Amino acid sequence: MKILLIRPDPGNERFGLGPFFRMEPLGLEYVAQALIAAGHEPLIVDLRFGRGLKYWMRKHRPALVGISCMHALEYDQVVELATQVRRLSPSVFLLVGGHAAAVYPKPLEIEAIDALCLDDGEEVAPALAQALAAGRSPASVPALRIRTPDGFVNTEPRGERTCLDLVPLPARGLVERYRRRYHCLIFKPAWVIETSRGCPYRCSFCSVWQLNERTFRERSVAAVVDDFAACGPHVFVADDLFWYHPARSREIARALKRRGVRKRWLLVQSRCDLVASQPELLEEWRDVAQDFDIFFGMESASDDGLEGVAKDAPVEATVKAIELARAHRYGVV
Ligand code: SF4
Repeated sequence: MKILLIRPDPGNERFGLGPFFRMEPLGLEYVAQALIAAGHEPLIVDLRFGRGLKYWMRKHRPALVGISCMHALEYDQVVELATQVRRLSPSVFLLVGGHAAAVYPKPLEIEAIDALCLDDGEEVAPALAQALAAGRSPASVPALRIRTPDGFVNTEPRGERTCLDLVPLPARGLVERYRRRYHCLIFKPAWVIETSRGCPYRCSFCSVWQLNERTFRERSVAAVVDDFAACGPHVFVADDLFWYHPARSREIARALKRRGVRKRWLLVQSRCDLVASQPELLEEWRDVAQDFDIFFGMESASDDGLEGVAKDAPVEATVKAIELARAHRYGVV
């Protein structure tokens, strides 16, 4: 089946980190690789650059279109894009997935959209494509929210969460034509890597733990090292909780160095209390990249403030983490 996977142009980038993080659509690349493995023909288009929707719809002639909606700020653009897709192809099956769609699908429950993806796209999209190709109803596919004459309803949930090593590495080749446009802060071109998914903490403002039901899944060391080796010199690791398991983290750093994988620049995201309690990890990782930045969540300068957002860590840990990071020549973002 021909499938078009679309990264929309969010339009308004005045909020958030959009202008500084113009990154590859990694989630769509994972979905595309899973679709290829199932025998389908996906094409990824990034509408932030180059040709527009009409060109790609005419060129690829998809039977299934998937749109990613990663952030709540993108709802309006996704609704508009879905309406355009429907106008161009009244019969195409239109699926919307991504973090925002799964966490809060309500704004996307419109006539133009057939279904919303509520779980891992690498599992749901191939199952949906198989069902459509076989003429089965999408109601038979788990983890969807489908449009019916009575409104949107959920199909049955998926069972166990899939082990990340069963998810093939992303189809980066499908976005190579955009590679020189992707940048992160001052580094260009840039690559995104995911080594783990989810978070067991419970910060009140965060939807990551809620979507993942406080689970935390990790790729094996060998798969992570292969992915690092396949990527270019500037890398953003999208994990929300880098360095969560010290033994695995140490093993990855050592395996990267053994293989001679060294980056010009790395950016990772972690918690202050995690870093404050594992200074040896900072030392182990530091020479994996020439320049190395850590993106910390520093939500409050008081213990009361941190308690108010259920951070489950004291300000003392924030101070210690920054001191340690600076002492080991990390940049703090
Ligand atoms: S530690 Fe980070 S990812 Fe985890 S719940 Fe808190 S803000 Fe979210």
